[in-house]
Amino acid sequence: MSLVIAIDGPSGSGKSSASKGVARALGLRYLDTGAMYRAMTWWMLAQGVPVEDAAAVAARASEPLLVCGTDPDAPTIAVDGTDVSGPIRTREVTNAVSAVSAVPAVRERLVALQREIIGTGGIVVEGRDIGTVVAPGAPVKIFLTASEEARAQRRTRDLAADPGATVAVTQAEQARRDRLDSTRKASPLTRAQDAHEIDSTRLSLPEVIEAVVRLAKENTATG
Ligand code: C5P
Repeated sequence: MSLVIAIDGPSGSGKSSASKGVARALGLRYLDTGAMYRAMTWWMLAQGVPVEDAAAVAARASEPLLVCGTDPDAPTIAVDGTDVSGPIRTREVTNAVSAVSAVPAVRERLVALQREIIGTGGIVVEGRDIGTVVAPGAPVKIFLTASEEARAQRRTRDLAADPGATVAVTQAEQARRDRLDSTRKASPLTRAQDAHEIDSTRLSLPEVIEAVVRLAKENTATG
């Protein structure tokens, strides 16, 4: 397998910006697996499926057609031919995604699609279970963290257009999502034993990218 860099961690740890930056620096493709769970959730909500009802979600999980573009400069995600890059970032989707992503039928389908996209490698993949489940053989695994406050501040900046998203509200919603993502039965968010942990609380984005690129070079040179 050629290079696969797995970047996992909780919400707001800076995974997306770091993953895109690393992909650009090394000339690799980029896959945002969170966007795939968000797209599935967006579709369930649009169809009126009660997202807290795992059986109802499982029954429809094979229906939507998801297509992901892997250019780090212009990542795309479409459901049944409609670009949903914007709608998947709303708070409604964000607050519903953990229930949908905990359903095993959803994970089976999306993990298969993720492995198909990863193919023979040459890609940076970000998510929650990339180093543990999706690509356990990835030669470079990163677990990116940051303090709860730093993560909430970053998320609130991302949600600047939403007047309801104060730092306190975002922090509470984020803590709930992390709790659900870390305690679910199917592939919970957890650090792979062989992952390098990077705490980004006091690091700038270029510093995080540089640290990952250095680890990638070290690991591929010796491996
Ligand atoms: O990374 P992002 O915050 O966009 O992820 C949205 C949600 O998708 C997470 O809260 C989690 O429930 C789910 N997810 C997952 N496994 C992944 C990536 C994301 O369960 N590999």
